[in-house]
Amino acid sequence: MGRYRRALPPGTVHRVGGNGFCGCSRRKLLLILQERARELGVALLFEADIDDEARFADADLVVLADGINSRFREKYIAHFQPEVDVRSNMFAWMGSTRPLDAFTFIFSGNRVGPFIAHAYQYEVGRSTWIFETDPKTFKRAGLRA
Ligand SMILES: Cc1cc2nc3c(=O)[nH]c(=O)nc-3n(C[C@H](O)[C@H](O)[C@H](O)COP(=O)(O)OP(=O)(O)OC[C@H]3O[C@@H](n4cnc5c(N)ncnc54)[C@H](O)[C@@H]3O)c2cc1C
Repeated sequence: MGRYRRALPPGTVHRVGGNGFCGCSRRKLLLILQERARELGVALLFEADIDDEARFADADLVVLADGINSRFREKYIAHFQPEVDVRSNMFAWMGSTRPLDAFTFIFSGNRVGPFIAHAYQYEVGRSTWIFETDPKTFKRAGLRA
């Protein structure tokens, strides 16, 4: 804590400009992918919970991409042998309409410890804000996961 205060006084803001950045909202990306799939003749099926891949038994290829908590990765854990490395820092990931013209890192802190914000604009009028702290500071601040 003392070392943190000496190295990075609360209120320090670093702006990192000049990097090329290409981004869009998740919604826009998904719409682009859906449009391309339709062009290729793919039948899109939404809001269908797949609990048994056996329904695709006659398919040539099945791609399962069910996210970070993949139930199929768990089901086939012996085959895929995934390595999951859970780290300890705590994050809150938020969206804002505040414009930013550079990657922005804000170092803040009070008597409980350091908090860091990483923020960047990904499209006009939309920016992502990630607030991060270590588990001890999180607990001292009275926060609960
Ligand atoms: C808050 C946040 C911000 C992020 N910001 C960025 C960023 O700025 N840039 C970046 O590159 N990455 C970012 N990421 C990471 C990025 O979102 C992920 O890496 C990416 O979405 C992973 O894609 P995926 O297709 O593997 O899984 P997902 O996007 O999670 O997609 C999995 C899909 O499978 C569906 N599904 C799950 N189970 C079933 C089931 N049984 N039946 C049917 N459907 C099912 C889910 O509903 C979901 O639609 C961010 C992540 C978060 C949480």
